[in-house]
Amino acid sequence: MTIPKTQKAVFFEENGDLDVIKYDDIPVPEIGEGDVLIKNKYAGLNYIETYFRTGLYPTEKPHILGREATGEIVKVGSKVNNLKVGDKVGYLSTATFAQYTRFPATGNILRLPSDATDENLKLVAGALLQGLTALTFIYEAYNVQKDDYILVTAAAGGVGLLLCQLLSKLKKAHVIAYASTDEKLKLAQEAGAEFLVNSSTTTYEEQVKKILDITGGKGVAASFDSVGRDTADLSLAVIGRKGTFVSFGNASGPVPPLQLGRLSAKNLKVVRPVLYGYITEHEEFEKYTNQLFHLIDSGELKIYISRVYPLEKYIDAAREFEGRKTTGKLVFEIPQ
Ligand code: NDP
Repeated sequence: MTIPKTQKAVFFEENGDLDVIKYDDIPVPEIGEGDVLIKNKYAGLNYIETYFRTGLYPTEKPHILGREATGEIVKVGSKVNNLKVGDKVGYLSTATFAQYTRFPATGNILRLPSDATDENLKLVAGALLQGLTALTFIYEAYNVQKDDYILVTAAAGGVGLLLCQLLSKLKKAHVIAYASTDEKLKLAQEAGAEFLVNSSTTTYEEQVKKILDITGGKGVAASFDSVGRDTADLSLAVIGRKGTFVSFGNASGPVPPLQLGRLSAKNLKVVRPVLYGYITEHEEFEKYTNQLFHLIDSGELKIYISRVYPLEKYIDAAREFEGRKTTGKLVFEIPQ
C-alpha cells in the first residue's frame, strides 16, 4: 500500500482549554530500523490527555494526543523480526490520535488474530489501557482479598466500571460505588457494586457515616480513588485501620500535599501508582494482557463502550467527558 506523506491528527501546541486543540495535517513519521508504522483504526480516550493539555503533566509540544490504539502494521524497520506488514495489533503508545503512529517493535504491543474484525479492533482499543489499569491495581497497588470492603470513586467511569466488575467477580470483594448521579450508580450496580453513594445528593458527613455504617464501623480495606482533590479527605476518613489509599488520578485536580502524620492514626498506607510501573517488563505486559483478554473472551469482564466518535469530533467527546456526562469508555474511529 502507498503511505501518504501527511496525515490527520489531534494535537496541541500550547496548554489551555479545549480551544487549543487542533485537528489538522501533520507529517507521517519516518520509522527507524527497530520501529513499525501502524495505520490506526480505533483509539481509546483517557483522562491523561486532559492532564497533558492543561499542563498538569508537563510534555513537549506539539503534543499529539492518544495513549492506545488498534490497527494494522504497514511498514517495518530492517531489524524488526517479531512483527510484519499486515499484522493487526493493539498497543499502548503516545500519539495514537492520528492516522499513523511510529512505534518500537519491542514496546507494549499485542498481535491480534489475522481474522480480527473491526468490532474486535474497537473492543481492544476500548479495553487495553483501562483494563490493564484496573487489573494491575487490584493485585499490585493493593492486593484485594475476598470479603474486603472497597471504595471505588468515579465508579461509572471507564476505569470505574472495570474495577466494579473485577473487584466483585474476580476478587469477591464488597464494592462501595461512589458517583455523581443515580444513573451512574445504577450502572455501577449492574457492574457488581453492592453499595451506592451519590456524591451530589449527600453531604460529606453523610457519606462518611454511610460508608462506615456499611463496613460495620471498621472502614474499607482500600479506596481506589481516581477523583483526587475532591475525594482524598473522604478516602482517608473511611479507610479502616491498616488500610490502603490507592490514589491514582486527578479528575477533580491533584491531591494537596499530605501530612504523613495523618497516616499514623490508622497505620494507613498510601500508594500513587501508574499503570506503566506495573507493565515495565515485557513478561508483566504479557501476563496481564493475557489475563485481561481471557476475562473478556470468557464473558467475565464487559467493556462498556458507551460511544464511538469520528476522530475529527475529539473536542465534542472531550467536552462531554470532562463535563462528567459520560459513562464507561469512549472510543475514536480513525479515518482510513
Ligand atoms: P472516567 O470515565 O472515570 O471520567 C472521570 C470521572 O471522574 C467523571 O465521569 C466523574 O465521575 C469523575 N469526576 C469527579 N470530579 C470530577 C471533576 N471535577 N471533573 C471531571 N470529572 C470528575 O475517566 P477514566 O476512566 O478515563 O479515568 C479515571 C481516572 O483514572 C482518571 O483520574 C485517570 O487519570 C485515572 N487513570 C489513572 C491511571 C494510572 O496509571 N494512574 C491509568 C488510567 C486512568 P462522577 O461524575 O461520577 O464523579
